[in-house]
Amino acid sequence: MTSPVRAYIGLGSNLRSPIRQIRQALRALQEIRQTVFVSSSGLYRSKPLGGIRQPDFINAVAALDTRLGPHELLSELQSIECRLGRVRGRERWGPRTLDLDLLLYGNERITTERLTVPHPGLLERDFVLHPLIEIAPLLRLPDGSRLSDRAAEVANELQRVDSSTEG
Ligand code: ATP
Ligand code: MG
Ligand code: MG
Repeated sequence: MTSPVRAYIGLGSNLRSPIRQIRQALRALQEIRQTVFVSSSGLYRSKPLGGIRQPDFINAVAALDTRLGPHELLSELQSIECRLGRVRGRERWGPRTLDLDLLLYGNERITTERLTVPHPGLLERDFVLHPLIEIAPLLRLPDGSRLSDRAAEVANELQRVDSSTEG
């Protein structure tokens, strides 16, 4: 049997009780087949990308150990997005109930039609970078660089969501 691979998932939601959506999604990640849920960051509130007028996002990052291949894992993530009722318009970076992105899959670099890993936004987006460093402070990218070395260059404008906050 192949050994498990540590994968990191970025979660985001800004519609229909986003705090509740993210908590439900974190529970759904615990049910993925052939996969063990390792940990998750706190929840953070962030401003939307792309200049479209829309509500703030709630974001988090989770770590999984999985025996699924990267495309199989992506399919599981997309199935959770659908099951939890992802509804979205046509524009990229527009409002959505739930977005689950595969940020890292072990040390692999993947470029296919369906999948780019490491996720291209990983190093630019404060709502990905800072929660990722929270759960994996020593993490290195496939090119060997340390994630935390990047943190000083990306301003952290996130607001932590208190764990007692109701969604
Ligand atoms: P962004 O990827 O910039 O955060 P997005 O999350 O809004 O944008 P989606 O609409 O969720 O984009 O996904 C569009 C497509 O991106 C998906 O159909 C999927 O096949 C592809 N994709 C490529 N790489 C990844 C990845 N690492 N994680 C998730 N989806 C990916
Ligand atoms: Mg995304
Ligand atoms: Mg996505």
